[in-house]
Formats: sequence, structure tokens, C-alpha cells
Amino acid sequence: MLDFSSLLLAAALSGTCLSVTMFAIWFTAPRARFVLTVACGILVLVTHVIVFWRYTREPNPWLCQTALALLSLGFLALSLSAMQYLGVRDHSRAVLPTLLAMAICAGVTYLGFDGVGFILTYTTVTVLLASIGVMFWIKGGGHDRGILLVVSALSGVCGLSFGLCGAVLLVKGQWVLGVAPDNWAERLNSVVAVACMTALGALTLSLHHLQAQIELKAETLTDPLTGLMNRRALNSLYGERVFGPFMSVAMFDLDHFKRTNDVYGHPVGDRVLCRFAAIIKKYDRAGVHAFRLGGEEFALVMSRMTEDKAYDLASKIGVAFGTEVVPTPRGPLRSSVSGGIGFGAEGGSSLDEVLAEADKALYAAKHAGRNRVLVLDKTSKADGPALRSA
Ligand code: GH3
Ligand code: MG
Ligand code: MG
Repeated sequence: MLDFSSLLLAAALSGTCLSVTMFAIWFTAPRARFVLTVACGILVLVTHVIVFWRYTREPNPWLCQTALALLSLGFLALSLSAMQYLGVRDHSRAVLPTLLAMAICAGVTYLGFDGVGFILTYTTVTVLLASIGVMFWIKGGGHDRGILLVVSALSGVCGLSFGLCGAVLLVKGQWVLGVAPDNWAERLNSVVAVACMTALGALTLSLHHLQAQIELKAETLTDPLTGLMNRRALNSLYGERVFGPFMSVAMFDLDHFKRTNDVYGHPVGDRVLCRFAAIIKKYDRAGVHAFRLGGEEFALVMSRMTEDKAYDLASKIGVAFGTEVVPTPRGPLRSSVSGGIGFGAEGGSSLDEVLAEADKALYAAKHAGRNRVLVLDKTSKADGPALRSA
């Protein structure tokens, strides 16, 4: 059976390895700041373990104070890393109470009540771990839900084991110790904490991996110039969908855009594309999604909308773009856009079928003189004339 010192040494060793691994990972992916914070937190906890081990052999008030302060600081860092991961900005909610508890703990320990100092520190750590557990439980949603629930449970178990250490001292009324506390709760805690910290470290790496994968996927689905979703995203979101009567796709193509590029230059052309993207983005909401299909072609998928509503929306976009003025070195530039709408059918249509209908209507809009939105005549969709124009 391992003695208490061996357990502490094992904790320090596994913590150091974990921390070094995380520093290395953060070095290759500096944007994952929460990994760096976890690495720092674990390093502080390793230092705590070493100082605490020293304190068990050579009890003195300074070592006691340092060990307690490092324990609170280490778990504060872990709590901050959880906030970073979940995007909670108000760090002061964790920092200020912890610093206050640390100051009170230092005060009572200085006065000789080291037992009270231990109880206070264990309470602080329990609260910090419980708050990590609650944050992950409440905020964790979507892709990483499974991992976050495990992190939440581990934090809870670890917090409970620290809570027990404090409770034992409290029940025994050990306000003044003079040496490191040594009881069944302390021994249980050292085993539980090593296991939980190792598991939490490994899960941090899984979360980082998952986040990197998600960022990469988002990049492959986003058009870098306009920030709109691209054609791959359109296929991924709607490729398998059945387009019923209340679904439609409006296709837009900027008019004479080649001339815009030739006369005003490519950078101005890019700005015009971004202006149109900004307009179409304004209508991107639940049930309405905007995409840049490529070049100067865009699409707007509209769900839960009647044909008239869809037509009005697409026309509004065309009119709004027509009133945009882009300042250029050669003077103000006004552009226009043509659009065509394809509708889902009673029996259901595929994305390709709706896009083909929208493309035909767009072609008709170009031929009719541009700067308008058209839909095909329902009665002669195949090659019929345009029905309405903006
Ligand atoms: P129409 O009114 O018939 O649509 O004429 P058009 O000149 O707009 O059509 P065309 O398809 O001939 O021209 C599209 C131009 O879009 C050609 C290409 O150089 C330009 N283009 C494609 N992608 C970009 C881009 O990312 N930035 C800029 N500035 N131009 C682009
Ligand atoms: Mg085009
Ligand atoms: Mg064009």
C-alpha cells in the first residue's frame, strides 16, 4: 500500500506530465487559451503538492500559508479556464471572492488558527469546483455535451472530496493544527484528486481537439470574403431536404459585374460583393439562410414563407442593393442585381430542382433587362415566360 508521501509524489509527477503536454499543445495552437490556463492551473497545483509534502515533513506557518494559497490559486485558474472555454466574460465573479477568501485565510493562519485556514481553503476549492460543475452542466450544449457532462461530474466528485476534508476538521473542531491535517478524508482526497485531475486534463485535450475540428469545419463552410455560408454549406444544410410548398430559393447575380471590375478594379469589385452580402445577411434569420454560391452569385433559402412573401423579400433585397452607393476614386458607384426564385412543390422537390428553377428565372431576368427579380410561370415552368417582376 502506498503511504501518504508516495501519493503526493505520484500526484506531482502525473500533474507535471499533464501540464507539460498541455503547454506543448497550446504552443502549437495558441488560440486555445483555455488549454494554457489549465496548464498553468495544474502547474500551480503541482507546486502546491510539493510545498504541502514539504510541510508534512517540516511544519512551519509560512509553508502552510504558501500551500493553502497555491491550492486556491490553482483551482481559481481551472475555474477561469472553464469560463474561457464557455465564453463567460465576467471573470471577476470567480477572482474577487477567491482573493477575499485567500486574504482571510492568510490572516487567520497568521494568527495561529491554521485549522480554520485549511477549512476556509477547502471550502473555497469546493465552491470553485462546484461552480465549474454547474457551469458545464448548464452551459454545455450541442456537440461537446457528452464530454462537458463528464467534466461536470468529475468536478463535482473532486469538490466533494475537498468538502469532506473541510467537514472532518470542522466536526472535530480542529481550529489549531500546527501540522498538516492527516485523516481518512485527506487520504481519500489525495487519491480522488489525482484521478480527477488526470481525467480532467485528458478531457481538456479532447475538448481542444473537438473545438479545433469544429473551427476547421466552420472555415470550410464559410466564404472568406463576405463571411456568408458557401455552396458547400448550402449542400450540407439543404442537400437532403425536401422542398415543400412553403420553401423557396432566390438566386441573385450582380449585373455587369465584370464591367465593374474592369472599370473600377478588383478591390472595388470586392467591396461591392461585400455590400451585397451585408444586405442579404440582414435577412438571415430563423428559416432564412443566405449563401454566396461563388463569384457574384448568391442564394437565399426561405422556409415557412408563402410565394408572395418570398417574392417580396427577394425584391426588397434587389431594391436595397440598387440604392447602395460605393465611393470609389473614380466617383460614386451604383450597381444592380438580378434575381430568380424557385419554389418547392406539393409533392416535394430537391434542392437541385429548386435551384434549376431559380436559375431559369434568373436567366429570364437578365434577358428582360436586368435589375429585377422574376419567377417562372407555374403553368409552363419548363420554358414559360416570367410571371412577375420587381
Ligand atoms: P451579367 O450582368 O450578365 O451577370 O454580367 P456579369 O459581368 O456580371 O457576368 P460575368 O459572369 O461575365 O462576370 C462575373 C465576374 O465576376 C467575372 C469575375 O471576374 C468576377 N468575379 C468573380 N469572383 C470575384 C471576386 O471574388 N471578386 C471580384 N472582384 N470579382 C469577382
Ligand atoms: Mg454570374
Ligand atoms: Mg453577373
